[in-house]
Amino acid sequence: METNFLVQCPFCGEQIWMEFYPEDGSQQEMVTDCEVCCNPILYFVTFKGDEARVRVERAQ
Ligand SMILES: [Zn+2]
Repeated sequence: METNFLVQCPFCGEQIWMEFYPEDGSQQEMVTDCEVCCNPILYFVTFKGDEARVRVERAQ
């Protein structure tokens, strides 16, 4: 299972590697500040079978 995901910051466009683990739940939400622009990024992570999806939005 892939646990490293390349995502793009919705604020500055920087590409960021993030790690998520299916052990933490099949649906996860977390907020982490971008390392580059320090804006809060909201991550939606879904694990389903062997498939993992990560979606990002601007957190308020
Ligand atoms: Zn950023």
